[in-house]
Amino acid sequence: MYQLNDKIKNLVPYEPISGTYDIRLDANECPVNLPDDIRAQLKERLDEIAFNRYPDPLAERLINSFAEYYGVDPEFVTAGNGSDELIFLIESAFLQKGDKMLVVAPDFSMYNFYSSICEVKCESFLKGDDLEIDVDALINTVNSEGIDLVIFSNPCNPTGKGITRAEAEKLVRRVNALVILDEAYMDFWTESLLDKIGEYSNLIIFRTASKLVGAAALRLGFAVANPVISRAIKAVKSPYNVNSISQAFGEIIYSNKEYLKNRQKTIVNCKEMLYNGLVEIAGGQSDITVYSSVANFVFMKTSRSREIWEYLKSKSIVVRLMGEYLRITAGTDEEVSAVLSALGEYFSR
Ligand code: PMP
Repeated sequence: MYQLNDKIKNLVPYEPISGTYDIRLDANECPVNLPDDIRAQLKERLDEIAFNRYPDPLAERLINSFAEYYGVDPEFVTAGNGSDELIFLIESAFLQKGDKMLVVAPDFSMYNFYSSICEVKCESFLKGDDLEIDVDALINTVNSEGIDLVIFSNPCNPTGKGITRAEAEKLVRRVNALVILDEAYMDFWTESLLDKIGEYSNLIIFRTASKLVGAAALRLGFAVANPVISRAIKAVKSPYNVNSISQAFGEIIYSNKEYLKNRQKTIVNCKEMLYNGLVEIAGGQSDITVYSSVANFVFMKTSRSREIWEYLKSKSIVVRLMGEYLRITAGTDEEVSAVLSALGEYFSR
């Protein structure tokens, strides 16, 4: 006789949006597949893989390529099976029973979710109505509540807002806690702390290949931290956490620097087009707030969120519904035009 324990008995498997849609703007992915010339490089490399052998446990070639692209020391980098794996791993290994972690709200929900599996106490620091983080108040909360680990995304998923590099540094300097800055969307902004990573003993930065890099299918995430922390992450991770195909393909993709630079510009332009279009539509409506964004998506608040979400689905366009908010990923030019014109139709009915 076996019964699931209390912490897992009511959990359900993660369910992505079901159904097929012409336009997917719900997951903040890169809207286009890798280009033919890079895919040709990947196909060629496939033939070199020894499928009978375990992958390199330290993913050295992949990490060198990542480190060169971002200008960090490879010794500071650990590769994970998506940053999702790294979030779970670090929360479970770097916190002990009875330790406290802090998330900000709203933010990426997995931080909180994994804390419940790890059985650590997780407190929430609420953002104001403007969805900004009051960094001084956050520092006070971390120190006065005896927080051991604080984690948040910068830029933030789902708000699209971010704190500056100077603010992030102030936080890292002033708190008596380990800080995890999840920079999954920092490829679209300028305020990374990656270049300062060697200066801090209490900072881990996450990066992912799932957004700008356009390789969500490979599941590649990275933790960047000083050598003491990096060694500990490498020591606690499962030995063969990143498979050989993802290592080889990731190495190639990060070496295509020009491609990544151009893609970044294209996506940021599409985000601007989406934001400007939404602001124009919201101008005529009393109950819509559109938030400025430094990421590759735009967040908006409206009491008609569910109705709008259903309407877009009826046009084969899917965005992310979050209570009274909608989060819309910047797709291609055509996709952004399509979602704006569908919204225009909705509001002119
Ligand atoms: N962090 C943030 C803030 C995210 O939005 C996401 C993906 N939605 C992740 C981490 C997970 O990224 P990965 O695909 O590398 O697991």
